[in-house]
Amino acid sequence: MLAGCAPARPTALPTPVAFTPTLAPSPQASPTAWQPLPLSPTWTAAPTATATPSPSPSPTATPLRPDQVVSTRHRLRVTYDPAGQQVWVRHTLVYTNPTAETLSTLPLVVPPWYYFALTWERLQVDGQPVDVAAVPAKPGHVLLEIPLPEPLPPGRAVTLDMAYRLTLPRLRVTGAETNRPMVFGYTPRQTNLVDWYPFVPAYVPGEGWLVRRAWPYGEYLTRPRAAYTVQWQGADTWALATNLDATPCPDDAPPAARCFQGSAVRDAVFSLSPYFVRLEHVVTQPDGSPVTIEAWVFAGHRAPAQVALEHAGRALQMYAAAFGPYHRPRLTLVEGDFPFSMEYDGLFFVRASHFDLTPEKFLTAITVHEVAHQWWYAQVGSDQALHPWMDEALATHCEAWYYRRMLPDYAAWWETGRWEGLTPAGPIDGSIYEYGGFFAYRRAVYHNGERFWRAVHEQLGDDGWTALLRAYRDANLGGIAVPHDLLARIAAAWPAAPWEAYFASPPEP
Ligand SMILES: [Zn+2]
Repeated sequence: MLAGCAPARPTALPTPVAFTPTLAPSPQASPTAWQPLPLSPTWTAAPTATATPSPSPSPTATPLRPDQVVSTRHRLRVTYDPAGQQVWVRHTLVYTNPTAETLSTLPLVVPPWYYFALTWERLQVDGQPVDVAAVPAKPGHVLLEIPLPEPLPPGRAVTLDMAYRLTLPRLRVTGAETNRPMVFGYTPRQTNLVDWYPFVPAYVPGEGWLVRRAWPYGEYLTRPRAAYTVQWQGADTWALATNLDATPCPDDAPPAARCFQGSAVRDAVFSLSPYFVRLEHVVTQPDGSPVTIEAWVFAGHRAPAQVALEHAGRALQMYAAAFGPYHRPRLTLVEGDFPFSMEYDGLFFVRASHFDLTPEKFLTAITVHEVAHQWWYAQVGSDQALHPWMDEALATHCEAWYYRRMLPDYAAWWETGRWEGLTPAGPIDGSIYEYGGFFAYRRAVYHNGERFWRAVHEQLGDDGWTALLRAYRDANLGGIAVPHDLLARIAAAWPAAPWEAYFASPPEP
């Protein structure tokens, strides 16, 4: 089922950066430490076809659609001190066991450890204090294995009450082959909270907990949808962009608090700045529903941001017509004060320097790429560490498709200038750990991956290609797809697909 995940081509890898967390000793990087995580046996349930998530409590009597069912409910009360770049978080996490197993421990992924940024003040499980320093940790996987005071049967809930402090890192503004720029942290004009709180990873029936080793490029986190309420205090006069929806604060909230919620979201993202201006552009989906696309950009970038918004709107309409509707009433573009772009659920960052060039080039290409991730990441998740081709190759082909249809005058630029002189090369189905550097990874997964999807698209035609992806989206909406979900559809539609030209591990016939 996971034919693409074997480390087929071990390569000379760069020395991993140290992943020392704030609490636990760092494991020494070993030559084999980069391999995809074999899940701890104690965390791996027996294969089952009957495990179904328990519906979360709903405030209304309306039954939840399957894609709205979540296992985790986060309540985060945040106090941000911009002068000291500290964030105090009181975090209540309620987890309802969606597995068919009785759990004795609960895995908790703690992404801020990657930046040495989190200091625990309290961790309680169902009211009982836990000595965090004594909890088994896998720092390379930014993972804690929380012992549960009582075994947790299927369908039962456990409550984690946490308090911690984040010391925000200054954002790196340069990247390198093995050390890309960051999103989490601050610059003099922007503060970004992404991957800033602990979460319970997805549980894959038959596989176990979906946790991978941290890595400096590519994405190693796979986030299940969860419910969030966030009460935010601090930097009261700053503009705040978020993928969550504003909601009235409870009566006991401080007067300046701002409150947000989301019911089935893969992540909760905040970007603040005293310098943002907001633009918006409303488009209508083919099903008639309106979507507000908003841009939060620095003041000198209104004009290119308007161009980006218009292309984001056209791309959203084009993808919605092809693959099925966008899943939210709002989509947020944030100008990232770092040389990097990144997608989240309902929000994406586009690097600031793209706003200073011809807007129909990188600004638009990256914008429509990140819009495509709203289907191939936000709507249909995947194991981004082991199978990055599943979302990145597809999002990149959506770019190419957009340029051919909507910006033909720039299609030739897209084929060459978009890639800064690099050519496609290498098997597309490696994990993020296997390519030996960012550019080799990009040439294979993004660029050659685009060539693969282009071949599929040309073979099947627009109708066949979009029908394949619409069915894939419908079958996996809200969940986490595995390669077989895509490969089986491609193989059925194109039995003679040239797998060997693109895949190190072609699907079994
Ligand atoms: Zn991407």
